[in-house]
Amino acid sequence: MIRWIFFTICMLAGGALGWLTATKFGFGLGVLAGGLVWLALDMVNFRRLLSWLRTEQNSDSPGISASALPSLSGIWGDLGDRTRRLLEIRDRYYLEGQARLDEFLAAMQASPSGVVLLDAQGRIEWCNQMAVQHFGFDAQRDLRQHIANLVREPAFNAYMASADFSHDVVIPGHSSTLARPVKLSVHAHAYGKNRKLLLSGDITAVELAEAMRRDFVANVSHEIRTPLTVLAGFIETLQTLPLNEAERTRYLALMAQQSLRMQTLVTDLLTLSRLEGGPVPGVNDWTTTSALFAQCEQEARALSGVIAPHGHRLEFESGMACEISGIQAELHSALSNLVTNAVRYTPDGGLVQVNWILLEDGRGQFQVRDTGRGIAPEHLPRLTERFYRVDRSRSRETGGTGLGLAIVKHVAQRHGAELRIESQPGRGSCFSIIFPAARVRRLQTAETALASL
Ligand code: ADP
Repeated sequence: MIRWIFFTICMLAGGALGWLTATKFGFGLGVLAGGLVWLALDMVNFRRLLSWLRTEQNSDSPGISASALPSLSGIWGDLGDRTRRLLEIRDRYYLEGQARLDEFLAAMQASPSGVVLLDAQGRIEWCNQMAVQHFGFDAQRDLRQHIANLVREPAFNAYMASADFSHDVVIPGHSSTLARPVKLSVHAHAYGKNRKLLLSGDITAVELAEAMRRDFVANVSHEIRTPLTVLAGFIETLQTLPLNEAERTRYLALMAQQSLRMQTLVTDLLTLSRLEGGPVPGVNDWTTTSALFAQCEQEARALSGVIAPHGHRLEFESGMACEISGIQAELHSALSNLVTNAVRYTPDGGLVQVNWILLEDGRGQFQVRDTGRGIAPEHLPRLTERFYRVDRSRSRETGGTGLGLAIVKHVAQRHGAELRIESQPGRGSCFSIIFPAARVRRLQTAETALASL
């Protein structure tokens, strides 16, 4: 309305000025000139609004106003104002959308799985840091690169080409080496218009655990089957052959030996499983080192008498009377395994020394040293693996199960202790368990109690 009034005023003012000139067409030309002046003024406002709109449109950062709305009156001012409000709503939506996208990408970054987004052509649109580690991508440089150019595993390329994504594919990871193989499980999921989401996970530990489980079952079966086969053979012999008394006695002794071997194996297996599932040893149950020494010395002497006709030289030095906190049966089992191993792997007449040392920093150390055949350095890192044996026949001959050092390692770990193994082939071995100061205390004997008074 105001616009029309202003337009009419302009034309009338032009007409009045034209009429004042008193020429023939003065009034008509004046009206026309007045109309043109109004139109020119209107176009100036329109241009200002248009140039503001162009600046807003060309702005690189939506959400941030590039320039202020020029002050315009009338319909252009109104139009500018409404446009500005619409732009503000758009900008708010944009900023909210951007914040949500950032949060979503941050969540994908935090994912323990590698995440890769592929476009319809199989080019990388986005990937998280874990995927960078798994596949060895460069998060910036490799964007828009075709995945097949970056992951060159034939199994992976065949999987992507097959378009059957109902299962995953296992491929070596980027950092995989012969010494440290890394296995990745990669699973593709189709979404949107032919896009794909790749999820990758490091399954090295799972595969290792599975391989260990398989090996363990195979080893246990093998260890049990051998004495069982021997036993079955003797039973058949006893059933079918007419044997004299001496032969029967000899066979029965061999059968007893095999069943003892199975019994020892089952006992060790049960000990291991108890160690794995049992509660952490408390710190209030104390066992004296002298009691542990006495038990082990007895066992070592008995074993030495059986396997070495001339016997070993056994030296037990229980040192400062102390107590260790933990589970007595476990502590005994660990020390006993080390001592009997020393006897079993040291030739007849060799020296086995066992001692307990209270270290200056309060820690306590059990040490079992022998002058046996020793162990080559390449075997040392694997000695505590279940069923790992350096000398298979010697182990079997002397009733070994291959689980002794695995038990020692578990007991040490459960008591916060450290197992140290030093050995030189031909010169002997030294096994030590070092208990933390918190689990060791000097024994209060009558003498020490009197001395402290
Ligand atoms: P095993 O029942 O076979 O003795 P262990 O787990 O106790 O099983 O020991 C693993 C392997 O470590 C043994 O088979 C043996 O080859 C080696 N070993 C253990 N203790 C000694 C030792 N004192 N001297 C030499 N070799 C040893």
